[in-house]
Amino acid sequence: VGVFFRPLDMINAVIETYPKGIAGFQRYLAFLATRPDVADRLGAKAVARLKGDIEYRDVRFGYQPERPIFENLNLSIRAGETIAFVGPSGAGKTTICSLLPRFYEIAAGAIIIDGIDIRDMTLKSLRSNIGIVQQDVFLFAGTVRENIAYGRLEATEEEIVDAARRARLDGVIASMPNGLDTVVGERGVKLSGGQKQRLAIARIFLKNPPILILDEATSALDTETERAIQQSLAELAQGRTTLVIAHRLATIANADRILVVESGGIVEQGSHVELLTRENSRYRRLHTAQAALHPDSGRAETARLH
Ligand code: ATP
Repeated sequence: VGVFFRPLDMINAVIETYPKGIAGFQRYLAFLATRPDVADRLGAKAVARLKGDIEYRDVRFGYQPERPIFENLNLSIRAGETIAFVGPSGAGKTTICSLLPRFYEIAAGAIIIDGIDIRDMTLKSLRSNIGIVQQDVFLFAGTVRENIAYGRLEATEEEIVDAARRARLDGVIASMPNGLDTVVGERGVKLSGGQKQRLAIARIFLKNPPILILDEATSALDTETERAIQQSLAELAQGRTTLVIAHRLATIANADRILVVESGGIVEQGSHVELLTRENSRYRRLHTAQAALHPDSGRAETARLH
C-alpha cells in the first residue's frame, strides 16, 4: 500500500500527541510540506475557485531524477468527472495524484488546471482548491469542532454543524459528552476508524473544494460501516472532479472512467463495462482474479480489487 504524501505520513506518527493546538499544528504542517524544490514561482498568482478541468501534459517524474516513474504521462480529466485509478501496488497511482497539489515537482511537462499551469498558481491557492481524503486520518489534540474546522478555520458554527451532518457525524457528536466541544485524541475521546473517516469527510464538506483526491482505505472496516462511508464519499464526490486511488469494486464500477496504471504509465482506460467486455483487457484480468478471490463479490459492494 502506497506512501501517500510522505509529510503527512510523518505527521500520523506524532499526531495524537501534538500538543500546541491548531495554530501550532498548521505551522508544523506548513513546515513539513515545504520541500526545497516546491515553492511559489516568481509571479505566481493566487487563483480563486477553480472549475476543475485537469490536464497532465507530457509529464515526467521520478522520486530520484535518474529513475523516472513516468516519462510521458498524458491525461485529461473533465470538471466534475470521477476517475478511478487501478493497478498493481507500486504502479504509481498515488504518485500521479500527489503531483496535482504539487507535493512533488515534475521534471518535465506540465500539469494544467482550467488552462493554468499549476506552477503559475500560489501553492496556497492551488491547495485550497483540492481536498484530500487519506486512508489514515490525522487528528490533533483538540476538540471535534477544531478538528473539523481544520478544513476552513474561519467557518461558522452553522457551517461546521452542516458539514458534520452531511458526513453523518452528527449522531456520533450528539452522543459525546460535550458535543462539538469534546476533546478527541490521546487525552480525550478515542474515535473508531469509521468515525475518523467521517471526520475527514466532514472536513472536506466544510472546505468544499472543486477537486477531490480520495485514497481509498484498504484496511477493513465492518461491512455496514464501510457501506455507509462509501455512500458519504459518493455524496462528497458529487459535483467535484474526483481522482480515486481505488481498491473497491463498487467505487470502480461507479467511476466515470477507469485508468489502469502499470509501471510507466496509464496502459488502459474506459468505463467498467467497456473494459470488462474488451477482449483480454488487463482490467478484465484484474477483475477475474478478484472474483476468484472473492466468490461472493457480486453481492458484496465492498469487495476489493487487490
Ligand atoms: P499502492 O497501490 O501500493 O498504493 P501505487 O500504485 O499508489 O501503489 P505509488 O505509491 O505511486 O504506487 O509508488 C510508485 C513507485 O514510487 C513505487 O516504486 C514506490 O516505491 C515509489 N515511491 C512512492 N513514494 C515514494 C517516495 N516518497 N520516495 C521514493 N519512492 C517512492
